[in-house]
Formats: sequence, structure tokens, C-alpha cells
Amino acid sequence: MVAEGESALERTVSPQPPDLLHLHEAVAGLFATQGDWRRAYQHLRSALAIARDGSLRDALTSSYNRRYLDERLYGPFTDRPPLGLALIDLDHFKSVNDTYGHLVGDRVLCGVADLLQQGLPPDGFCARYGGEEFVLWLPGIDARHAFRIVEDARLRVAGHPWSALQPGLRVTISAGLAHAAPKSVAPERQLRHADALLYAAKRAGRNKVVYHDAQTTQLITHSE
Ligand code: GH3
Ligand code: MG
Ligand code: MG
Repeated sequence: MVAEGESALERTVSPQPPDLLHLHEAVAGLFATQGDWRRAYQHLRSALAIARDGSLRDALTSSYNRRYLDERLYGPFTDRPPLGLALIDLDHFKSVNDTYGHLVGDRVLCGVADLLQQGLPPDGFCARYGGEEFVLWLPGIDARHAFRIVEDARLRVAGHPWSALQPGLRVTISAGLAHAAPKSVAPERQLRHADALLYAAKRAGRNKVVYHDAQTTQLITHSE
């Protein structure tokens, strides 16, 4: 949980969540000793909901984690809306760690996660795929809109005042975006497609979004 007015850069790494889970557990135990099973059950349910949410969050960035993404990728889906899937990778992130240290690297990851979570459509989400890679899940919007969201995220990251964290620090991302019509492609295949497009963005020089335009079937690259 981030306090109001506190930016990701000011946040301590691996913040400790308020220990609501243990509180609910303890209160459930108290009610159980009094034989009040209904209240004990309610508090155990609350504890379970908190534990489940925690198991689906990335400990460093608090964005959704790979487990949550996999649930969405491989879970049952009926009546799936059009879906944009973007795979995003920080550019030359190893040199951020090498130059400024891993603690700064961790804070950069938190800051990027916060910037990626802005402007998502309803039911959209950002998940940490692993390491310095994130996925944006963008349902219910057309390809042009999905591209706009990813391109705006790229611009937000590139324009963020990173030098406030460390003088001279600059951070950019590259992204591959694959968009699919309803029920046309399984999401995991779509993610592999996004991965290939991300690779093209890297090859094209980084700090770019590469996406597949369904009408022209050309790779289209956008950057500053
Ligand atoms: P490219 O532009 O080609 O993606 O280059 P890159 O340096 O970003 O890619 P590379 O795969 O060489 O390095 C990724 C780095 O990300 C290496 C790894 O130490 C770092 N990394 C992964 N997870 C974390 C993390 O949780 N915290 C920190 N500080 N670094 C991490
Ligand atoms: Mg990577
Ligand atoms: Mg990288």
C-alpha cells in the first residue's frame, strides 16, 4: 500500500503491508474459543482473501505477478473481448544496476510499474512477467486504442524525472504489442507474438513500441 503523496521512488523497497491477515486470524481464533463460529468463519474468510491477493502480487512492485498472469492466460475464457497484450522490457537495465547499484535498480522497477499502471482500460492490468519485464493486459479496446496506451506508457517512462533518484539516470522501455479480435487467438500464443515484436523493438534501437497492424500486416514502429 502506498501512502498518499508518496511516490514509488520515495517508497522503501519491499514495503511491509499492514498485518491485517494475522489480525483477522487472531480475531477468528478468539471467536472460535467463544464458540462464535459464524464470526470466526467471517474473519477466516477475510484472512484468506488477503492471503490470496498477496499470493498474486509481486513483492517488489506490488503489481500483479506471473502467477496471476498465468491464471488469466491459461484460465477458462468464454466470450473473450478483443485483447491487446503488450510485453514490455526495460532498456539496458543491467547497466542501471551496474552503474547505480541494485537498490536503485529496484526503485526503478517500482517506478516503472507505477507508470505502467496508469491509463489502463477497465479490467486491464499490469503484471510483472519476471525480472525487468512486464505485461499489459488490455481488453475490450481496438488495436489503435491499445497502441495509444502502450505508446503513452513509453513516453511517460522516457519523460519521468529519473535524475531526481540519481543524477544522470535515464530509463526507457521497449514494447511489443499484439492485438487480437475476439476469440481469434489463444492469449498465450498472442503473448509469444508480442515477445517477437518486442525483439523487433530492441533491434530497431530500443525506446520503441512495435505492433502488428492487422490491415497492412506490417510491423509499425513508433518512437520519439
Ligand atoms: P536490453 O535492453 O537488451 O533488455 O538489456 P538489459 O540490460 O535490460 O537486459 P539483460 O537481460 O542483459 O539484463 C536484465 C537485468 O535485469 C539483469 C538483472 O540483474 C536485472 N534484474 C532482473 N530482476 C531484477 C530485480 O528484481 N532487481 C534489480 N535491481 N535488477 C533486476
Ligand atoms: Mg529482459
Ligand atoms: Mg531489458
